[in-house]
Amino acid sequence: MPSSLLRTTIAGSLPKPGWLSEPLTLWAPWNLSGQALEEGKRDAVRLVLREQERAGIDIVSDGEQTRRHFVTTFIEHLEGVDFRKTRTVRIRDRYDAQVPVVTGPVMRSAPVYVEYARFLRSETDHATKFTLPGPLTMVDTLYDEHYRSREKLAWEFARILNQEAREIAAAGIDVIQFDEPAFNVFFDEVRNWGIQTLERAAEGLPCKAAVHICYGYGIRQNTEWKQTLGSEWRQYEEIFPLLRASKIDQISLECHNSKVPVDLIGLLEGKDVLVGSIDVTTDRVETPEEVAATIRKALTFVAAEKLFPCTNCGMVPLSREVAAGKLKALAAGAAIVRGELKA
Ligand SMILES: [Zn+2]
Repeated sequence: MPSSLLRTTIAGSLPKPGWLSEPLTLWAPWNLSGQALEEGKRDAVRLVLREQERAGIDIVSDGEQTRRHFVTTFIEHLEGVDFRKTRTVRIRDRYDAQVPVVTGPVMRSAPVYVEYARFLRSETDHATKFTLPGPLTMVDTLYDEHYRSREKLAWEFARILNQEAREIAAAGIDVIQFDEPAFNVFFDEVRNWGIQTLERAAEGLPCKAAVHICYGYGIRQNTEWKQTLGSEWRQYEEIFPLLRASKIDQISLECHNSKVPVDLIGLLEGKDVLVGSIDVTTDRVETPEEVAATIRKALTFVAAEKLFPCTNCGMVPLSREVAAGKLKALAAGAAIVRGELKA
């Protein structure tokens, strides 16, 4: 019987089985191709669903088993982007990456993930979540030769994302989450058009719309960046008031083991808050009590009905064993606090 308090969920990705792609690797290439790859992706979704359900996660996802990269896999399916032509750009002002080039008007001529969303819905009785990249993070992961304006391109992506999101919601998905890690970096753009393009992407959805904003996976570039952020990470202070005034229903943030002051959650009054209670940058599996302690702190600033214990970010670079342990710890930690609330 799922509880209505402290319903657990995950930020997004989970590790893939070794037969599907290289383990412990971000953006790993597939180990299968053609029909075998399509079957393999679906089998992997079944595995991560069972794992989440058995751990006790309430709102489950496909663990992003069907994509290589949270941004570029989506973009690959659009017209106007040339993947044979790549350029090196600096992503989130932090690291260089080879990215595809926008060479003409961007268009979605066919659904991208909608079949996978239907498959997810058909394979579980739990509430479900599906993730998409957000417009600002998309434009930050490309070289644009055509629009020559980050804002113009973001509005185009927002329109495309909205088409996709409406069809995913129609497949029966309960939460659509847009991943916007770039919100933590480009505050002027967030203020000037980032929130508006995000709202455009989520416009008219019959399900909940979430946004995930984090400090990233535990890769070296992110770890070095965090060392420059001082003793308190106050980036959320810039964007939470804007999100509070927005039409977005849920905000997913990093919290556990990070230098984010927990009282910043108070800036999100009225919103559902997905409280990151699992550190994804370490192999050490949290104890349920550690998870419970993070949830208790967050409860000072958000009601239990609006608090969703979650992971800080995706878990794709971790081992399957570690990720499975962290899922169990997340659910067990939430159960401890739920028990306290009922007592
Ligand atoms: Zn993240």
